[in-house]
Amino acid sequence: MSPPAANAVRDRLRIAIQKSGRLGDPSRALLTACGLDWRESRDRLFCYGETLPVDLLLVRDDDIPGLLADGVCDLGIVGRNVLAEQAAERAQAGAPAVAAELRALGFGGCRLDIAVPEDWDWQGPEQLRGCRIASSYPQLLRRWLAGEGIDAEVVMLSGSVEIAPRLGQADAVCDLVSSGATLAANQLKPVLTLLRSEAVLAGPVRPFTDARAALMQTLLRRMDGVMRLRHSRLLLFQAERGAMARLIELLPDAEPPTVLQVDGADTLALQALCHGAMTWQRLEDLRHAGARGLMVLPVERTLA
Ligand code: ATP
Ligand code: ZN
Repeated sequence: MSPPAANAVRDRLRIAIQKSGRLGDPSRALLTACGLDWRESRDRLFCYGETLPVDLLLVRDDDIPGLLADGVCDLGIVGRNVLAEQAAERAQAGAPAVAAELRALGFGGCRLDIAVPEDWDWQGPEQLRGCRIASSYPQLLRRWLAGEGIDAEVVMLSGSVEIAPRLGQADAVCDLVSSGATLAANQLKPVLTLLRSEAVLAGPVRPFTDARAALMQTLLRRMDGVMRLRHSRLLLFQAERGAMARLIELLPDAEPPTVLQVDGADTLALQALCHGAMTWQRLEDLRHAGARGLMVLPVERTLA
């Protein structure tokens, strides 16, 4: 099945996600948790939405901002780094912004860092003056250099940026870093962070005026629900009446709890939706404060 024309008034929403790579699976998992599913097409580039009129385009992440700009897709899940680089490029060319960050999605976390050889005695950004810095993010790097008033040469590389200093192509790099292991393996150390990134939902700067407006509201509402519940758990326990006020103080991340009387006047049962991580340590602290029969349950769905 081939995708319909880009410019027609549309009654289906089209979302671009990374076909493979770091963001592919978590993007799909998020959309699936929002209740979407698709009939796969043979080429697996276009997947037709079954439960809602929301179709998927599976593409390279770098193509997503351009697909949004051209109106080929309506929404995209992409790293903030990719979106910001494209926005900086458009701003540089005097073109208006075409895509906005609608939601931060909490996965694909990384930083755009400047890294220098491990044996440099790092004194500060001034040290980059006159250097060659390799990066796949030339616009973000140039903008930062200009802001700092540093004159340096930007060496644009589309991949393998971290080996550029060893190959003599550059003195330093400006690259994505998560654990830092890749930098360390190339005898580099991060010294500055230009951007903190994660996967984001990118969409139109102006709202849709056709059927896509309602579809997008539905999707955003579901996505907010899924993300709110990501760390949420239902907490259940019993305690003596006298201990309850103190126990509730230990749950600052909880929705207003339901407290029921269990037997006679003195034992109460509490049920609360907690949004912070419910670690063993927290359970032990609650037990210490008088909670008994503690139980933590996953929450599949809520609807306010
Ligand atoms: P594609 O084939 O789609 O172009 P790619 O190789 O450009 O894939 P990935 O390496 O899968 O892309 O990275 C996709 C996104 O994952 C990045 O743009 C970034 O937002 C995020 N990311 C998280 N951690 C890292 C990391 N350590 N290195 C690179 N990207 C990271
Ligand atoms: Zn890419």
